[in-house]
Amino acid sequence: MSSNQGLIKKLRVGSDMIFLATLVSLAVFSVFLKSFNVFFPVEQPSVESFLETKLSEYVYAEPEITPNQLPKDLSLFLEKGETITSLLTSEGVRYPKVLEIVKALQSHVNFRRLQEGTQINVTILRETREAPVQVLALSVVKSATEKVELTLQDDGKYKVRTLNKNFVKENRHINGTIQCSLISCMQRHGVPYGVITQLVNAYSSIIDFQRSIYKGDTFEVLFEEQKDDETGRIMGVVLKYASLTTKGEKMPLYSFDTAHAKRTYYNEKGEAAVKNLLLTPINSARISSHFGRRRHPILGYTKLHKGIDFAAPTGTPIFAAGDGIVLKAGTNGGYGRYIKIKHNGTFATAYAHLSRFAPKLKKGMRVQQGQVIGYVGTTGRSTGPHLHYEVIKNGRHINPAKIKSLPSVKLRGNDLKRFKNYVKSIQNELKQAKA
Ligand SMILES: [Zn+2]
Repeated sequence: MSSNQGLIKKLRVGSDMIFLATLVSLAVFSVFLKSFNVFFPVEQPSVESFLETKLSEYVYAEPEITPNQLPKDLSLFLEKGETITSLLTSEGVRYPKVLEIVKALQSHVNFRRLQEGTQINVTILRETREAPVQVLALSVVKSATEKVELTLQDDGKYKVRTLNKNFVKENRHINGTIQCSLISCMQRHGVPYGVITQLVNAYSSIIDFQRSIYKGDTFEVLFEEQKDDETGRIMGVVLKYASLTTKGEKMPLYSFDTAHAKRTYYNEKGEAAVKNLLLTPINSARISSHFGRRRHPILGYTKLHKGIDFAAPTGTPIFAAGDGIVLKAGTNGGYGRYIKIKHNGTFATAYAHLSRFAPKLKKGMRVQQGQVIGYVGTTGRSTGPHLHYEVIKNGRHINPAKIKSLPSVKLRGNDLKRFKNYVKSIQNELKQAKA
């Protein structure tokens, strides 16, 4: 396919639709990234090293662009595997110019963080067939409120600045009784789709939506609507408070930010709505060694056994004990093939002596509770096929058998004080909304 056809395809969809879709996906992504960043700061490579690795991939191809004396505005969306570099080269911009643009943008844009679907607007000009394609302006829409703009100045240099949009924020309150499915029922009551998604995510750890919602149950939401002050268009929604009452049991959740975790949902006591870890991350296995001091079967001396051993045949699937990020998937001394998963700021779990890893499992990957991450084996210092399973709380090994009784992540100290005031302010708002 020529670059022209590709371009036409990209521009065919209504621009409003694309804009909205981008905003929604950006909002979802930014929330995801925020939660990710809190625990896993990623080392940032320099732009130079990024370009070096990418350079060989973008061999300059003669573009099928006809000369046009008028500037052309393009609205492009990064597709999987694409970069600003590949976008510009495919529009016929020569590599030295691309490099100049990328270098000019680097202090305002983190290229590694640009996601699929990021909107990039480019104004290009080609005066004659022989003339190189000029980039007059380029903007990267980083979020609904933030845009980085690059413009060509009279002196031939690029000027880059970050623009922030002003939003009018307004709280809205909606409640209702569930007569059909929760989602369609909330839609019928006028709850924006973005709010419903946030609500489902907030409750997904504590409610089984398939089985725990009944006809006659009620919901209540308080959310912030962000409107563009010029056009009045709704640019974003933030769920601040939600309450589901099922079979008479009321379960309110408050969205709250701390220095370590943004937009986490807590109950009135300040306990985060997060899943407990699985007690047994493997099916049909017997415990062959408990947590605690024991005589090591190979080393011979008494040693703290930092986990639980589950005897099971080689090849038995092992599940992630909770949602999280893979910190390590590789060999680790006496542990043999080893996986470590970080679940939140408090808990991590480890799995040792695996025969093999699940296909495609690698460091940095997000996994969900119950997902198969590997298979039982006897690699490393091991006497026979078994899973050695560890639960690590704040860097210390704890008895996995006790995780059921563990309290969920709870706000403490100053955070808890601030949270209690926040709950009061939300309750006041709810009272006013109902009055
Ligand atoms: Zn063990």
